[in-house]
Amino acid sequence: MLVRDLSRMASRHGYLIRIGREGVAPAADGGIIQPQCDWPSGAIGIGEWQGAPIAALGEAGSPEWPAARQWLHSLPRDQFPLLSSALQVLKWMRDHRFCGRCGKRMKRLEHEFAMHCTGCQHRSYPRISPCIITLITRGRELLLARSPRFGPGMYSTLAGFIEAGESAEEAVRREVFEEVGVEVGRVSYFQSQSWPFPHSFMLGYYAEYAGGDIVLDGAEIEDAQWFTPEDLPGLPPRFSISHALIDNFLRSVASGR
Ligand SMILES: [Zn+2]
Repeated sequence: MLVRDLSRMASRHGYLIRIGREGVAPAADGGIIQPQCDWPSGAIGIGEWQGAPIAALGEAGSPEWPAARQWLHSLPRDQFPLLSSALQVLKWMRDHRFCGRCGKRMKRLEHEFAMHCTGCQHRSYPRISPCIITLITRGRELLLARSPRFGPGMYSTLAGFIEAGESAEEAVRREVFEEVGVEVGRVSYFQSQSWPFPHSFMLGYYAEYAGGDIVLDGAEIEDAQWFTPEDLPGLPPRFSISHALIDNFLRSVASGR
């Protein structure tokens, strides 16, 4: 488990995650945690792992390294929060080098993830963008959709960013209607997940179908269908909350709940 404590980062020694422009460096054990070492300059401590400090390093990397998304299929489960934190912290530091208010160079504050502007005192923190992700159900059927960027045959739950001023439940109803044209009745919270592509925070919901036929939005969604548990398409990667929403629903159908 990643312990989110930055008090021991000054030693500049510990585990390391190496993030390249195109991928994440594999370690000898098949995961992404490199053995303990003195951290190269530019490494950013992100916490402690198995009793030792751990840092993320952004570098050019090698085109041979598997892409971050590819790791979702093979990464040991307990390393997902490390990958997620490393990707997001590095991206935030890269994108917030200058003050968004006055334009001066920002300075990293020690012991927390904050960039501080000495000119106007503005602070920036890692950007986290809340999204809803929802599985629409109708009895024992589930509505799954595919985006043009999915791999062949893969379908998933619907997702979208929460707009400024909107509640998560309102976002569920709006996204569902915009993307597939159906109305939903009861909406119930499931669980959440940090999703570092690039900095989403997914709030998972079940939504019960209430009416309407599937009408595709034509842009974000290229197909959407009702599926039964016996006849499922390719599903999203196992670490994703989308997979968990589907899996949990299938288990409840199988047990007759
Ligand atoms: Zn400023």
